[in-house]
Amino acid sequence: MPARPSTDRPTDVLVVGAGLAGLPVAWELARRGASVRVVDRGAPGGATSRVAAGMLAPVTETEPDDPGHLAVGRAGLERWPAFAAALHAASGIEVPLHAAGTLALARDRDEAEALGRFADVCARFALPVERLLPSAVRRLEPALAPTLRGALAIPGDAAVDPRVVVRALTGALAGHGVEVVRAGVERLLVDGRGTSRASPADEQRAGARRAPRATGVALDDGRVLRAGAVVLATGAWSVDGVPDTARVPVRPVKGQLLVLRDPSGPGLLERVLRFGTGYVVPRGDGRYVLGATTEERGFDLATTAWALHDLLRDGYELVPGLLDLEVEETLAGLRPTTPDALPAIGPAAGVDALWWATGHHRNGVLLAPLTGAVLAEQIAGAGSSGEPILDGARVAGLVAPARFAVAPDDPTPAVPPAPPTPRPTVPEDARA
Ligand SMILES: Cc1cc2nc3c(=O)[nH]c(=O)nc-3n(C[C@H](O)[C@H](O)[C@H](O)COP(=O)(O)OP(=O)(O)OC[C@H]3O[C@@H](n4cnc5c(N)ncnc54)[C@H](O)[C@@H]3O)c2cc1C
Repeated sequence: MPARPSTDRPTDVLVVGAGLAGLPVAWELARRGASVRVVDRGAPGGATSRVAAGMLAPVTETEPDDPGHLAVGRAGLERWPAFAAALHAASGIEVPLHAAGTLALARDRDEAEALGRFADVCARFALPVERLLPSAVRRLEPALAPTLRGALAIPGDAAVDPRVVVRALTGALAGHGVEVVRAGVERLLVDGRGTSRASPADEQRAGARRAPRATGVALDDGRVLRAGAVVLATGAWSVDGVPDTARVPVRPVKGQLLVLRDPSGPGLLERVLRFGTGYVVPRGDGRYVLGATTEERGFDLATTAWALHDLLRDGYELVPGLLDLEVEETLAGLRPTTPDALPAIGPAAGVDALWWATGHHRNGVLLAPLTGAVLAEQIAGAGSSGEPILDGARVAGLVAPARFAVAPDDPTPAVPPAPPTPRPTVPEDARA
């Protein structure tokens, strides 16, 4: 029977949420020597992380015309090869990086023109892309429809199977003796709001008022888990008890996709294909992920006939052979999305010992190694990783949760709330 954690056995760090945001944080801290516990109401990776297509795509999936998104995405991709190798060594589970590249495709003249504009943006940021004639693309991927109008080869972007990453991370955590508690977190526990007898204003002037401090969580089964620091990695969901000043505004953005399987094995496609708002991601074993919708429907997780119809119609238009495949899974997930579509990774504003790893939107897989490294370095101390983060200070600044901080007397966050529809990752008219 697993040990029952209790208040008399606090850990250095408690990570709430065992998705691709929380698991790498827990692992990076554990391998730096911290005592870590993870808590999740479901199986590790069982929420949005198991749905992800797994593209590691800072060029096609983030904002190539937005230096901030690009810097964060590239810092994520940069860390992937070493992260995958270290995970393999720690868990014995290989995490293959699918690095055959990406083809951005145009189905008609409008899309071909948009591809040209996208290529210009990439050139401005010195991103290596190559324009290809339809005949050349079809030599690379003979399964593509002859009606193809144009293509861009994007060699840098890669892909990985997120479920394999979750398995490797949980294996690596087990190797460090990290306990994964299966329970819902009902409430964050926060202590130490202003302890002196002076008025808040006097305290602040005198520097005497202590910030509140996160001390653990209360579980829905009545247990309490105490820790020196708490990391909230709860994806699209939130936890009660977080002081207003420290909150990060995250909303769920639904995505549906299909997993298709070729019973005769791999070979239909080698490269990741991007088109319109869709994509096909070969898993390398005869499975193909065909995605994805982008929907503002709150916490709805239904898979719908219209979405599957549209995905199959668009996929068929480019790769007719997709319709011969078997449907292995239909999935829906909730992308955790902040108003600026960048994640919140770092210390919570105004609450000691509380940290965020949330808001990864369309890029939680891409950013998994970065999330772990940024938080572990911040929590365990700079330099503890031995591996510098690409553009470390800049990236840490871009993802700092403090950009959403609300002053106690001012309800307006530093970043205004999101528009009702999510920002497209690549401007629609510029994306193939
Ligand atoms: C259709 C689709 C395709 C995608 N494709 C890609 C892609 O190709 N590349 C990419 O990089 N990203 C992709 N993403 C995005 C990626 O899946 C997410 O950014 C990432 O999975 C978020 O990870 P997370 O750990 O924050 O959230 P989750 O995986 O949802 O994990 C959060 C965890 O917190 C737990 N939790 C929440 N509240 C509580 C509570 N109160 N108590 C206990 N546990 C709690 C949940 O059970 C869950 O396990 C895609 C997303 C979707 C929906």
